[in-house]
Amino acid sequence: MDARPATPRRFDGDRLVIATHNAGKLREIDDLLAPFGVTVVSAGELGLPEPVEDGLTFAANAEIKARAAAEASGLPALADDSGLAVHALGGQPGIYSARWAGTGKDFGLAMEKVHTALGDATDRSAHFACALTLAWPGPAGRDGDLETFEGTVHGTLVWPPRGDRGFGYDPMFVPDGHAVTFGEMNPADKHAMSHRADAFRKLVAACFAPATVR
Ligand code: IMP
Repeated sequence: MDARPATPRRFDGDRLVIATHNAGKLREIDDLLAPFGVTVVSAGELGLPEPVEDGLTFAANAEIKARAAAEASGLPALADDSGLAVHALGGQPGIYSARWAGTGKDFGLAMEKVHTALGDATDRSAHFACALTLAWPGPAGRDGDLETFEGTVHGTLVWPPRGDRGFGYDPMFVPDGHAVTFGEMNPADKHAMSHRADAFRKLVAACFAPATVR
């Protein structure tokens, strides 16, 4: 039974742990949070351990990471789990997007794997998905101890990859309605339309009181 209250819990503090060790995500979340006057500290800076992400959905993994960081730091924590879902590959690499880059975190290799797996498939459509979880420290399962929001952005995959401004699979993803990849795009433009921005808008609407906006 879902014991969560119908109204989302509001964030009214001024310090937030960003539960990621990924520099690209940290930069983007930092930018998205900038207007809210919240001091952010990363899980990496606090030396927090990375939990095992064994959830089967983006939301489950975001919840694991946010809860672990909140418990370890004693502060509210925001986690992102995201990835690229390629439609002709049945949604792969999906929640395994980071793993396709191997232990060397080589996204040139990961993009090449996607390209090879696609072969001569004509359907080049894909979407990025993002789950954002805000968790408060406290016993797991307590009412209102976490809130999760999901976002997507749809687009088309191109080859060869283009641009070095983003991270991960950005250089092979052209968002619908645009001619450039996320890797070529001005970061502010990506932030206005990305899967992370979509989830973030929902999080802000639900959890950040208007008074929090400075
Ligand atoms: P995780 O959420 O830490 O498991 O990693 C998700 C992986 O998906 C990242 O390492 C990236 O490779 C990929 N990914 C997530 N969001 C983006 C994005 O905005 N652009 C490019 N790749 C992304």
